[in-house]
Amino acid sequence: MSIVRTPEGHYRSTLLSEFEGVFHVFGTAAAPPPDGHTTLRQIHSARVVEACVPGQPGEGDALITARGGVRVAVKTADCIPLLLYDARRQAVAAVHAGWRGVVRNIAGAAVEALARRYGSRGEDLVAALGPAIGGCCFEVGPEVAEQFRGIFPERSDLTGQTRVDLQEAVVRQLRAAGVQDWHIDRGAPCTSCGGPEFFSWRRDRLLGQRMFAVIGLEG
Ligand SMILES: [Zn+2]
Repeated sequence: MSIVRTPEGHYRSTLLSEFEGVFHVFGTAAAPPPDGHTTLRQIHSARVVEACVPGQPGEGDALITARGGVRVAVKTADCIPLLLYDARRQAVAAVHAGWRGVVRNIAGAAVEALARRYGSRGEDLVAALGPAIGGCCFEVGPEVAEQFRGIFPERSDLTGQTRVDLQEAVVRQLRAAGVQDWHIDRGAPCTSCGGPEFFSWRRDRLLGQRMFAVIGLEG
């Protein structure tokens, strides 16, 4: 499994693509996804919102739905777009995980919300992490680094200027929430050093440039 570039210039998870009945895509700067998805006003929180109808249902950083035909999306430019699919219960989630959301465990909150609302079990979930800033480029100061001590207890360098791998952090949080390692697809390019097909907040500092990651059950 891997995250691969499609002929249209999108990225897709080969693992998620094995399932019929679910649509997903990671759009890029060069190739936005098709229109018609539901998004949130994102606030770097651990707030999960249920989407029942198309539109913008408010504030938060993860959208869940079990409604066919409702495509949920998050917008990112370095933050991690995380897509979740429960093949047994037929439910999906789109999650926006920047460093603040990772520290607040938005990934775990999304898994918990899927469990509470739809009866999803961690072991039934398939996860895909799209293009995001990598450990190669995400350099932070001590005030940010120290907030990752609980996630990376083996690291002694989180008291100073250092690099943090947000994707590894999210993978650890997914594992802790019961998601199996072989159900977690990752390996997309770094948005910061991966070239101009990606928007990168760190690299460009341009407001309003966001890439959409979309998932939905076929209606
Ligand atoms: Zn990089």
